[in-house]
Amino acid sequence: MTTLLTTSDVARIVAQQGPSQVFTGMLDYLLADFLRWQEFDKCARVASHSTTGVIELMPTADHELYSFKFVNGHPNNPQAGLSTVMAFGALAQVSTGEPILISELTLTTALRTAVTSALAARALARPDSRSMALIGNGAQAEFQALAFHEVLGIDTLHLYDVDPAATRKLENNLALTAPSLRIRRFDSTADAVKGVDIVTTVTADKAYATILTADMIEPGMHINALGGDCPGKTELHADVLRKGPVFVEYEPQTRIEGDLQQMPADFAVTELWRVLTGLAAGRQSARDVTIFDSVGFALEDFSALRWLRDAAARHGIGTRIEVAPRLQDPKDLFGVVRAVRQGQTVLVQR
Ligand code: NAD
Repeated sequence: MTTLLTTSDVARIVAQQGPSQVFTGMLDYLLADFLRWQEFDKCARVASHSTTGVIELMPTADHELYSFKFVNGHPNNPQAGLSTVMAFGALAQVSTGEPILISELTLTTALRTAVTSALAARALARPDSRSMALIGNGAQAEFQALAFHEVLGIDTLHLYDVDPAATRKLENNLALTAPSLRIRRFDSTADAVKGVDIVTTVTADKAYATILTADMIEPGMHINALGGDCPGKTELHADVLRKGPVFVEYEPQTRIEGDLQQMPADFAVTELWRVLTGLAAGRQSARDVTIFDSVGFALEDFSALRWLRDAAARHGIGTRIEVAPRLQDPKDLFGVVRAVRQGQTVLVQR
């Protein structure tokens, strides 16, 4: 039998554990997997583009577990009452191919993206960073704010979104969840980023957007750029990428999808796992500008699915469903049809 986790199930796990335990717990899983980067099968995700968005498949595996995520990105979806990003995925045994977990990954993507951002910033930002500008206040924003608060000790947030209602929603949610956060809202990106230690851009527009320009970047800043994650979809002016070392998840995928798509093929970048394992340097001085050009990589979903599997088992959350049949005679698949006709079962309950 396979465990099924719905969005409400994952929300229950988050509610029972609280943000602090969720972010630090998931970060441990993510870091453990990044540290054994070489053990994974890796490929750039497979994308199916349309005029309104993209649908992507993201597989990876180690010697024990296989995972995939189905995820979309449709920036105009909120106007149709749907989320911009929706996802689900599975974890299976490599030894047999049996699926052990099928889960929603919409809420989980927001969690794992926030944890990845925090993990990268912990390695790349100035250790004394306390303030962050959050440009784009949609579905991902609360998770980014809370992960940076919990993992890095960010205590001051500057908010900007072209949609003031999104900023109000974010302010209200954060006031309830993290009342100690000092929050200021601004009327432009340029004003919001002035004087902060970290800038997170998490906007959605299927366009070559320039949310950040080079004149907005101050010495010592860490840029956490998440929204440029698809061909034809960027957030950073090319000159921002020339301001300091650029770090990526999986270089072959980011070259196609990240803000990096604007740069020549020989523009140097460093994969994050190399910094985390000590093979490459991160920031060299307090005045360096560091840039994390994030697009989201399958390994992060693998780690999140592992965390979900263990958290769900610990909390007794989830429904056991029959996806891959366990038959009394595995060669007699037709027996399932015969048995249902006769009102019997040929399945082995586990
Ligand atoms: P969303 O649609 O819920 O929110 C996006 C917000 O950006 C909206 O509130 C919108 O008004 C705002 N926005 C658009 N253009 C803007 C601009 N020029 N200036 C300021 N704000 C602007 O989407 P979401 O789920 O929060 O996702 C945001 C982005 O992050 C998407 O592009 C998505 O593809 C990307 N994303 C990346 C990762 C990753 O791993 N890198 C993971 C998840 C989502």
